[in-house]
Amino acid sequence: MSLLRELYQEVILDHNKAPRNFRRMENATRRVDGYNPLCGDHYTVYVKLENDRIVDVSFEGAGCAISKASASVMSTLVKGRTINEAEELFHNFHRLVMGEKEGEDDIEKLGKLAAFAGVSEFPARVKCASLAWHTLHAAVKSDTATVSTE
Ligand code: ZN
Repeated sequence: MSLLRELYQEVILDHNKAPRNFRRMENATRRVDGYNPLCGDHYTVYVKLENDRIVDVSFEGAGCAISKASASVMSTLVKGRTINEAEELFHNFHRLVMGEKEGEDDIEKLGKLAAFAGVSEFPARVKCASLAWHTLHAAVKSDTATVSTE
């Protein structure tokens, strides 16, 4: 568990300090706002779809370190993937932060996502970590309403 904790610290610090794909996207095909009222995290997720592939993804907004790092990691992982692949990642991530992860194999397969496994110990933080993923999910499912974790 200490290795995971180190990874967690490293990923959160790095992606919070220098978030990837942190910008407005003018030519996005989808745009959804996500809000976590418990913590005050609010982000807009932009997606550019070509057929069923996410050719570009970005986000802007503000929130705690976990929410921002998670949005940043999410953006790096789903860019270039199909909607189905992104949805599978979302599913894996959700199980991970809900503490439903399985063996070490799973953790290895999850790569950087595994850094968020520790979040499952802090229920209030689960919403911070999953906000960007829920927002992405709404964006690719063409639900353009605002997403709230409450
Ligand atoms: Zn938060």
